[in-house]
Amino acid sequence: MQMLLPPSLQALLEALERLPGIGPRSALRIVQALLKKPDLLRQLSHSLEGVIHQITPCPVCGFWTEGFCVLCTDPARTEPILCVVKDASDILAIERIQTFRGRYHVLGGILDPLSGVGEKDLRLVQLWDRLRRESYEEIILALGTSPEAETTAYYIAQQLADWPGRLTRFASGIPVGSDLEYVDPLTLARSLRERQPLSL
Ligand SMILES: [Zn+2]
Repeated sequence: MQMLLPPSLQALLEALERLPGIGPRSALRIVQALLKKPDLLRQLSHSLEGVIHQITPCPVCGFWTEGFCVLCTDPARTEPILCVVKDASDILAIERIQTFRGRYHVLGGILDPLSGVGEKDLRLVQLWDRLRRESYEEIILALGTSPEAETTAYYIAQQLADWPGRLTRFASGIPVGSDLEYVDPLTLARSLRERQPLSL
């Protein structure tokens, strides 16, 4: 059936199908909806152009910026705590609970040898650099609860064996395998409040 489609539509469908959680049927539904709403289609195109040309990761924390990081430049973030997360979207989940006043570091993934993700694919060098330049008393490893997240947390803990501050992780309560963005804010707030020391 898809061979009937004009090439530009076919290309859009194939791009959509590569997104997480979108299969061929959803992709077709999205394309159909967009074609019925030319304004939305134009807005989407405009937004995508904006993201392509203006969004870059903050060279310090890794959060999404348009050349100016609202997190790294926030003078109210005075707690000497660095929260290490997997993805920029995890920051949004933690910020939603409005209690953390430290700073963040986005790793950009977690160690996953089976998928070919090694140490060099993560923002680890930037993390070690920050810990030399910036002063923290605690690092929270908020990487989630999957086995790969555990491995990554222990890898970081090993590398930081001589770092003088405290290493902690979120308390239990976050469902195994969950991304932070899907955890309800109350559970996340409790996990942050009751965080546990991470020992090797
Ligand atoms: Zn930043």
